[in-house]
Amino acid sequence: MNLFQAVKEKINARAVAKHYGVKVKSNGMACCLFHNDKHPSLKVDEYYHCFACGASGDAIDFVARMFGLSQYDAAQKLNQDFSLGIEIHPYKKKSKPKKKKIAKTEQERATFVKQKIQLWVVEATEILINYLKWIEFWKEFYKPQTTEEEWYPLFSEALEKELLINRYLDTLQFGNGDEILELFEFNREEVKHYGERIEEYQRGVLAEIREYCERRNDDSGRYSA
Ligand SMILES: [Zn+2]
Repeated sequence: MNLFQAVKEKINARAVAKHYGVKVKSNGMACCLFHNDKHPSLKVDEYYHCFACGASGDAIDFVARMFGLSQYDAAQKLNQDFSLGIEIHPYKKKSKPKKKKIAKTEQERATFVKQKIQLWVVEATEILINYLKWIEFWKEFYKPQTTEEEWYPLFSEALEKELLINRYLDTLQFGNGDEILELFEFNREEVKHYGERIEEYQRGVLAEIREYCERRNDDSGRYSA
């Protein structure tokens, strides 16, 4: 588990907003910090979403925006300010073999691992870009129409995962060797899971959207009656 996941597991956007002095009403609404908001249009819960300016994201992102920090520094700040006690273990390089005899096999192994990781980077990038495209679609298509309605699961998923997936893609594209290796070691299974999840989703997407639209129409019928 990396720092971002560990922080998000322990804390949500509402707790964070309150902690830093944002007045949150019992229904989760607050005046938005990210635009000139006169009436509360920011909903803070597990994630946050502003109905006026569209700002949205998770607890870490909230702090990053509020204090003008990088995502990583925001996660660190939360770790400290909330005394979360998350220890960060930077990836440790394995010590080089001392004996010359095994040096060659070690080197072969290293080359093999390197190739394996390069292949994985290509595959993982493809999976994550595809997932991110769906996330962007969900964020618009399932956007709540009123502040009262419960967020559609795919909308929540979009807010939950958007930054995380962007972070992973950043690492895959611009990360150094150690950062990519860390992602490979700790998040390989997670990325694989996203690939499977999206494949399954794509198989049922038309039925899912149809059902959503029917329900939406039913609901609006009831409200206007
Ligand atoms: Zn706003």
